[in-house]
Amino acid sequence: MIPRIVRANEGPTKIAPNDKFVGTVYQDQVFLPEDPSRLRVTRVTFAPGGRTNWHTHAVGQILYVLSGVGRYQMEGGPVEEIRPGDTVVIPPKTRHWHGAAPDQMMCHLALSESDDTGAATDWLEAVEDGDYTEAPA
Ligand code: MN
Repeated sequence: MIPRIVRANEGPTKIAPNDKFVGTVYQDQVFLPEDPSRLRVTRVTFAPGGRTNWHTHAVGQILYVLSGVGRYQMEGGPVEEIRPGDTVVIPPKTRHWHGAAPDQMMCHLALSESDDTGAATDWLEAVEDGDYTEAPA
């Protein structure tokens, strides 16, 4: 790990792949893992209607909402609204999805780490429209 300031916009904004996300989603790397840390920080911006597929994280994930209005669901639980300043704690190996509200964008920081084998995220099927548009709890 090299001491430095990583300047804003050093890397290009990437469009999230449509085999893992639905709709228009942008990813900006805030910090990539540097030994001995395994921490990865990504700023993710979801256009209205944009969301992740269902997925799990090997050692969990922390989301911190920066702007907009979003949605989050853990399998078996209700769809929940998330707003700026909210922190979502996602335990290891727990199926879930996150994204924007249908009519609002949402931007969050995503903080995650890999496990001893290097595994971080397992991507699964897309969230059905009917599940996504369920009124938040
Ligand atoms: Mn996640």
